[in-house]
Amino acid sequence: MKLTFLGTGTSMGVPVAGGFGPKYAGGDPRNQRYRCSAWIRTRERSLVIDTGPEFRLQTLRAGIRHIDALMLTHEHTDHITGLDDLRSYNYAQKAPIPVYTSKKTEEAIRHRFHYMFPPNKTPGSVDLDFRPFTDAVHEGDCTIIPLPVMHGKMEVMGFRINDISYITDVNHIPDKTAEKIHGSKILVMSGLRWSPPHPTHYTIPQAIEVSEKLGVQQTYLIHMSPFVDHQDVSKRLPSRVKLAFDQLEVSV
Ligand SMILES: [Zn+2]
Ligand SMILES: [Zn+2]
Repeated sequence: MKLTFLGTGTSMGVPVAGGFGPKYAGGDPRNQRYRCSAWIRTRERSLVIDTGPEFRLQTLRAGIRHIDALMLTHEHTDHITGLDDLRSYNYAQKAPIPVYTSKKTEEAIRHRFHYMFPPNKTPGSVDLDFRPFTDAVHEGDCTIIPLPVMHGKMEVMGFRINDISYITDVNHIPDKTAEKIHGSKILVMSGLRWSPPHPTHYTIPQAIEVSEKLGVQQTYLIHMSPFVDHQDVSKRLPSRVKLAFDQLEVSV
């Protein structure tokens, strides 16, 4: 089972348009972060989590030829505006793309992307097949378990796919969800910046503290701001926590 980080940046991406943020964001390639997305491959399935504004570039860069299903964490712009770029997969695969997400995110997408759905459907627009996702589902050799977490006052969907748990845009993990994450070999979790605290995201020190309680072997942090220098911050992390970076590939 392989996990490729397609993007690891916060909502504005890194570096930020207009040059906001420190200079080091442009030097080390690991400080160049597309919006968060991930690609998971098993023997039988090719699965993608989130389709942000750089989704087309990410699929080309990673060489994604086929997508069996999409998982969407939530309806914020940095996680869904690349949905249109699934059209080429619809055309090639001659089938709608199955989607796993919360009912709330599904409704937000049906509203914002009304031209993709009847009665407003534009010919040639992306074909999505929202599947019920309140409990574990099976996709080939993958078991996908919903991991609801809190992003400020908003509930966001995380996913456990076999031994990998993926949660982003989180600042609170309910006990029930923590139990489902327990025992994962890899946890992917957002850690926005070292400080100060943020109302809807864990900082990196908070993410370290939380991950230590979750009983996982290795944690990779994502959704980092331009104020996170890969090399500098990596030196301050315990060995069980690492910063992810774009195009990093890990195997379980
Ligand atoms: Zn986000
Ligand atoms: Zn968000």
